[in-house]
Amino acid sequence: MTLSSLSLRCSACGETYETEWAWCCDCGAPLDFLADPHPSRDAPDPRGFDDRRGLWSFADFLPVGPHVTLGEGMTPLVDAPEWDASFKLEYVFPTGSFKDRGATTTLSVAAELGVENVVEDSSGNAGAAIATYAARAGLDADIYVPASVKASKLRAIERAGATPVRVEGTREDVTDACVEAVERGDGWYASHSWNPAFFAGTATFAYEVAYQRGWSAPDAVVTPLGHGTLFLGAYRGFRALRDAGWIDEMPKLLGAQAAGYAPVAEELHGPTDGRNDAADGIRIRDPTRLGQILAAVDATDGDAIALSEAAAESELEDLHRCGFYTEPTCAVAPAALREYRDRGILSPEDDVVVPLTGSGLKG
Ligand SMILES: [Zn+2]
Repeated sequence: MTLSSLSLRCSACGETYETEWAWCCDCGAPLDFLADPHPSRDAPDPRGFDDRRGLWSFADFLPVGPHVTLGEGMTPLVDAPEWDASFKLEYVFPTGSFKDRGATTTLSVAAELGVENVVEDSSGNAGAAIATYAARAGLDADIYVPASVKASKLRAIERAGATPVRVEGTREDVTDACVEAVERGDGWYASHSWNPAFFAGTATFAYEVAYQRGWSAPDAVVTPLGHGTLFLGAYRGFRALRDAGWIDEMPKLLGAQAAGYAPVAEELHGPTDGRNDAADGIRIRDPTRLGQILAAVDATDGDAIALSEAAAESELEDLHRCGFYTEPTCAVAPAALREYRDRGILSPEDDVVVPLTGSGLKG
């Protein structure tokens, strides 16, 4: 058997996996798809582009077909005059977060490979997304979550028929327990940080932004940054668009981390102060793809900063007051937008897109 479009290559040592799927390289580094599909035709006229298949409208850029879908994608891109930016409403997804972008592609790969049982570890949103799409596919799912997981996210996992496995300790302990289960053969690792299919899915964020803007990239995109699920996906998507000749330039990618959980910002700027525990979705001290995140920052003249709990909470109030009913984690991105402008990293003329990544309804 060959994996064809699902063949893998190690991001660190270059080893390839062309006959059998592996969740990570023998050397311990994460794997990526060997081929980076993108269309060879010119960008279609945006006025005539058929977007009725949601994010699957960009099938030419995807390594897998829509085997497991709930009609996700094409989230609204709206003006946010109070922030002088555009917000992409990523909380308008079947499970209320952008993680559905990666869940639909990851479960589609699982279906193509004939997987019967998937496992994932998550602080909540990715777990709810994987559980929901596993239910759609008729697959069993074990979702490893911190013992402190929010009740609303636990409920979403349970109601989809998945098995939550609550783990005491840190977020890293949750991942360790999940990886042990994968190594034991308990299931296929549908990980939002390891599985390259997840990033192929989150790359559709970039295709949608470019299409909604008439095939142009903004000057900058400011995203929450934990494992880099959206940050790296956006990078890969904009890069594929540029390689296809559908956009001319890449946007600056600017990350928003939680103080106390800010390895990328600390790598760039030194130690951060305080601890932001409100942003429960990005409390990641050891991102799986740290090297790739730093390379994306470097390649786009980007940056990463850490936001305090107070800054995120005050931003969340502003978001809610202006009609954006989002969860605390996603408030770090518009808070970072303010900070990037204060620091002069962004000028008043820069046109900026900020994804609002998770709904307040299960916040
Ligand atoms: Zn390797």
